[in-house]
Amino acid sequence: MEKIRMTTPLVEMDGDEMTRIIWKMIKDDLLLPFIDLKTEYYDLGLVKRDETDDQITIDAAEATKKYGVAVKCATITPNAARVEEYNLKAMYKSPNGTIRAALDGTVFRAPILVKGIDPYVRTWKKPIIMARHAYGDVYKNVEYRAEGAGTAELVFRDESGEEKSRQVIHEFKGPGIIQGLHNTDVSIEGFARACFTYALDQKIDLWFSTKDTISKIYDGNFKEIFQRLYDTEYKEKFEAAGLEYFYTLIDDAVARVVRSEGGFLWALKNYDGDVMSDMMATAFGSLAMMTSVLVSPDGIYEYEAAHGTVQRHYYKYRNGETTSTNSVATIFAWSGALRKRGELDSLPELVRFADLLEEATLETIESGKMTGDLALITTLPNVEKLDTEGFILAIRDKLEKKLEG
Ligand code: NAP
Ligand code: MG
Repeated sequence: MEKIRMTTPLVEMDGDEMTRIIWKMIKDDLLLPFIDLKTEYYDLGLVKRDETDDQITIDAAEATKKYGVAVKCATITPNAARVEEYNLKAMYKSPNGTIRAALDGTVFRAPILVKGIDPYVRTWKKPIIMARHAYGDVYKNVEYRAEGAGTAELVFRDESGEEKSRQVIHEFKGPGIIQGLHNTDVSIEGFARACFTYALDQKIDLWFSTKDTISKIYDGNFKEIFQRLYDTEYKEKFEAAGLEYFYTLIDDAVARVVRSEGGFLWALKNYDGDVMSDMMATAFGSLAMMTSVLVSPDGIYEYEAAHGTVQRHYYKYRNGETTSTNSVATIFAWSGALRKRGELDSLPELVRFADLLEEATLETIESGKMTGDLALITTLPNVEKLDTEGFILAIRDKLEKKLEG
């Protein structure tokens, strides 16, 4: 069989531990036999990051801006234990944080639904994709504990030093606490654009929710920016595609989400997104079945799995023990990136390959062949628990038949 052709390279970012092992298996067993794979390879494994003083991460982000599509393996974010384990020169920042900052991107998390792994919420039939604004609010706060009575004020001075506003936050009669939050129009606009872009790309409705009835200026500003950009830049495109932009109060949104069938994008402020995305990941069944896409406001895409490097499995693997690590989210990172590359470069064969790879993966699970994490939660009878590579090879079997047929 002739291999599927690519024209523009994908930016490929390799990573760490068990996901690095899976990465190679996916390439060797599921991609290289079928595609004339063109990638620009960046090794974001911790060893290479340390060797290059993390320059490799910056280079990978720049390459992503140049080519427009990247696929990334999970990577270690160093902590004190990792500095010792890898004898690192520094405690490098999270690669995801570095890439997100370089692309000014928003992270979208999308669950992979498959028969036999049922969401805890019975009504959910389609994925609910989450977008979290990843700048400001409580994550860039200033806090103070007052040890006794006194006055807390909110003061703003403009660049020339002129006082523009002074408000009393609270007259304390005794000890208490104060917190200052901020956000910027530029960051909120970037977030809103990424959300509108992604909803159009995926052909799904967009929901956005804040607490603007209580926070009339702060949350109100988020609501106004979304509405203004929708009206001026996206309304026509949404209407042409038959899609809806829907704003509602966060309390109402939470209730509607639980009653819904799914099949939309839910955009949230930083804290709401942090909390809700963990709840949604669990409610959909498994972190190992959650993909993640970083989208820049101007439509650059970086695909990855939402989970980490699965360290515990890696230590078993290194000891020569059998592992049963779920590769689905990493496979879908590859299929997402290949499909996007195919769409951008008008390569229908590549798009079709991405579709078939996803179908083969889901059908493998539906046929009862799966990794241990899914075997524990599936409702399917007669399950065969496979090891890490056994599962990938079972997918290959199905994929080969599909490509022939
Ligand atoms: P993790 O790698 O997501 O794994 C946590 C646990 O979840 C695993 O021990 C495993 O449970 C289960 N799990 C996750 N993915 C799985 C899969 N594909 N198949 C089967 N089980 C899976 O999180 P972590 O152990 O907290 O973090 C490990 C490293 O990953 C850290 O160094 C962290 O910095 C990094 N990390 C990277 C990213 C990223 O690059 N995007 C994201 C998160 C974390 P059992 O052990 O019970 O089987
Ligand atoms: Mg969280």
